Amino acid sequence: MSEQPMDLKPLFDGIFGKQRTVLYERPNFEKRELVDMLKELANIPLLYWDRYAFSRDPLDGKVSDEQRKIYMEKAWNCGIEWADRSKNEYGDISAEKLAKIFGIEVEYPVLPESTDRVLFAEFREPNHIRIYMDAINKVEEFIKEDSIKDILGDVNISDVLLLHELFHSIEEKYKNEIYTKTEKIRLWSLGFFHYRSCMVALSEIAAMAFAFGYSGIKFSPYLLDVLLVYGYSENEASGLYEEMMWYSVNR
Ligand SMILES: [Zn+2]
Repeated sequence: MSEQPMDLKPLFDGIFGKQRTVLYERPNFEKRELVDMLKELANIPLLYWDRYAFSRDPLDGKVSDEQRKIYMEKAWNCGIEWADRSKNEYGDISAEKLAKIFGIEVEYPVLPESTDRVLFAEFREPNHIRIYMDAINKVEEFIKEDSIKDILGDVNISDVLLLHELFHSIEEKYKNEIYTKTEKIRLWSLGFFHYRSCMVALSEIAAMAFAFGYSGIKFSPYLLDVLLVYGYSENEASGLYEEMMWYSVNR
């Protein structure tokens, strides 16, 4: 594993799941136009997000570059497969209708109850998904701009977030067979006892692929991290962008 650039420690862990803000002072990143960042990020090949994805996984350091690329591809395929499977089974229905079929209750509150972190969406077992609208509302104006529409198309961000979270509900339901839950990394062995653990990154990659495959968007949903963070802080979005670009090249 090559090392991370010192000044690019993440402030946001990523849109989905375990975001947190850190309390130390942030460096000032180069000021960038949103449209320029999105254009570059949309050009990153779908499978080149592996390093960024794993950088958010506590087990990151345990996986070789080679193995990480294999995991990326398998997890991505898993998400795509489930998107296809869902369409074959239920037809080309909206994300909300799909949620209904899965027995999931979807809510759209403005903000999470605890405000110590930035959170865009979450799945709570057994059947609750919340999409927090504050971040989406903040970027509503941007995504209507023609220059950004050229890159993102007519994207419905809350649907993409919902689809991502729906995949986590699928994982729960099929945890004994689904790739993201059955693939485990061996952390240590003691005699006959082997300690093996799931990898968060696999779930996240597959959830992104599911959202990508089901919604028909043309870019990796990981890009939405920068868009949504931009609504809160242009500087943070620029830092996150640098980090993503660096990971996509150094992999
Ligand atoms: Zn997730």
